[in-house]
Amino acid sequence: MAVQDSWRMPEEVHAVKCYVHAKAGAREEAVAVCHVCGMAVCLEHAVERNVPLEQLRSPGLAGYPDRSMVILCQRDAQALSDR
Ligand SMILES: [Zn+2]
Ligand SMILES: [Zn+2]
Repeated sequence: MAVQDSWRMPEEVHAVKCYVHAKAGAREEAVAVCHVCGMAVCLEHAVERNVPLEQLRSPGLAGYPDRSMVILCQRDAQALSDR
């Protein structure tokens, strides 16, 4: 009878990896999540933006200041700056 230890998942399976790195075939631990599309990004690919909150069209933001710092992926940061 074979020993069943396949349930023992490696630690890295549970750690969220950077989506941009993953698409390039690399692995980098994610440190943030894009506010717009929800992809996980590493420190290198995360972009801090001080944006008007109405641009984000997120529900439940009533009572927040007009502008706030958000974490975006590079694609959404570019998209927002193009407006
Ligand atoms: Zn990355
Ligand atoms: Zn994004």
